[in-house]
Amino acid sequence: MLPGRFCGVGRVVSGYSTSTGIENPINPSIKVHCTQLLINGNFVDSASGKTFPTYDPRTGDVIAHVAEGDAEDIDRAVCAARKAFDEGPWPKMTAYERSKVLFRFADLLDKHIEELATLETWDNGKPYEQSAKIELPMISRIIRYYAGWADKIHGLTIPADGPHLVQTIHEPIGVAGQIIPWNFPLLMFAWKVGPALACGCTIVLKSAEQTPLSALYAAKLLHEAGLPPGVLNVVSGFGPTAGAALASHMDVDKLAFTGSSETGKIVLELASKSNLKPVTLELGGKSPFIVCKDADVDKAVELAHFALFFNQGQCCSAGSRTYVHEDVHDEFIEKAKARALKRSVGDPFKAGVEQGPQIDSEQFEKILRYIRSGIESGATLITGGDRLGSKGFYIQPTVFTNVKEDMLIAQDEIFGPVQSILKFRDMDEVIRRANSTRYGLAAGVFTNDLDTANTLSRALKVGTVWINCYDVFDAAIPFGGYKMSGQGREKGVHCLSNYLQVKAIVASLKNPAWI
Ligand code: ADP
Repeated sequence: MLPGRFCGVGRVVSGYSTSTGIENPINPSIKVHCTQLLINGNFVDSASGKTFPTYDPRTGDVIAHVAEGDAEDIDRAVCAARKAFDEGPWPKMTAYERSKVLFRFADLLDKHIEELATLETWDNGKPYEQSAKIELPMISRIIRYYAGWADKIHGLTIPADGPHLVQTIHEPIGVAGQIIPWNFPLLMFAWKVGPALACGCTIVLKSAEQTPLSALYAAKLLHEAGLPPGVLNVVSGFGPTAGAALASHMDVDKLAFTGSSETGKIVLELASKSNLKPVTLELGGKSPFIVCKDADVDKAVELAHFALFFNQGQCCSAGSRTYVHEDVHDEFIEKAKARALKRSVGDPFKAGVEQGPQIDSEQFEKILRYIRSGIESGATLITGGDRLGSKGFYIQPTVFTNVKEDMLIAQDEIFGPVQSILKFRDMDEVIRRANSTRYGLAAGVFTNDLDTANTLSRALKVGTVWINCYDVFDAAIPFGGYKMSGQGREKGVHCLSNYLQVKAIVASLKNPAWI
């Protein structure tokens, strides 16, 4: 047993020390330990020796310098994943053994909620209470959901014509390349690695350059749970270098991407120009939230507010076009304004804070540009519209009324705390208008009328319709987009097929009478 190397179940990977690390300013007992790349079960420097800073969105200060992977590191990671797939124990061990590793990982996630939630909030800026009480429980839940699937994946026996015994078997697809975004770093990690590992794949995961910390720590825990070396490799780095190298690598068998529609087009092209690896894409959205005339306005205001402002408005599913029936419109906008004014914005580590800073200066500037564009195009700004304070990337909860579909703020994904309210008169009209974007990720419908709910949920061209609820992300519910919001589905049973090949085995039968 070599000192400092990964040595099997329950051992930590090398390159990690609990005695050093960068202390969290709020909770100094929590430190950043894992900053290198995780390749073949070891934390290692990048081939170039380069690092990049990751920032605290509360202040813009550097938290840590993280190893910067590029094409050479992706190649090292893919080689490790290839070897682990072709020669290692993971795809060949019993599905039950694989599921036990995932169950142990989920237990470790629960045990380390405080560290993981702190890293997540520190690196991303989301409220700590959200990280610890909402997201971490969802993360261990989805890992357990896929742990439960591992030994329930099987094929069929098919009664084909002719003297043949026909079976299908489901094999892991191979090396999966996974590229994740910064808005839900750990949740996206779990959505990606859970199903891929349950199916027996090996992985190279590239985290987002804005939020590299939590994936490295979670991957360390996964090795402590018994994951063999090389099965999950984590490369921190930038999109056009590390991300593009992964999408175009000839030895990656499948690509799963979550991010913007613009980048989705790039990775799809890279995948098709290299080895035609199948690609699943979970992309942007401009989701309508439709408040019907029978709505209880107080409840509708609260849910529409949550649908847009949750996670600083940085959700692909954000209900970013609030359609309100004319009968309740005026009451709705007064109450929506009051609710936005009441929203508590501040240091995400403070109890009771609903909204932290935006992720970085780039997103912060982009959101402020959209707010200016809303004003210039004639929408009415009823509250907010500016930054909050002079340090960090905080933005006032902002509400526009009199928004029209041809305005940029009604067409583009703003990814910030900017609510756009549009008035409508009848059902056909709102269906047409709600569907009039290039996106089709999700929609919210607020009504007590069964016919209205049924009609809208069938007419809207989106992957998820939430009726009198929003952002319900149970592990078993498939999620994905129509139109330019994506290809394929994540979560639920549907996601397993992304990581499986179906093989048909046809055997000639000597005695067809017994088929
Ligand atoms: P955003 O604009 O919200 O940051 P992106 O779609 O650019 O969203 O980023 C999502 C993920 O895609 C990140 O991990 C990022 O590094 C990666 N990415 C960005 N550009 C590319 C690219 N050209 N090729 C591959 N991955 C990329």
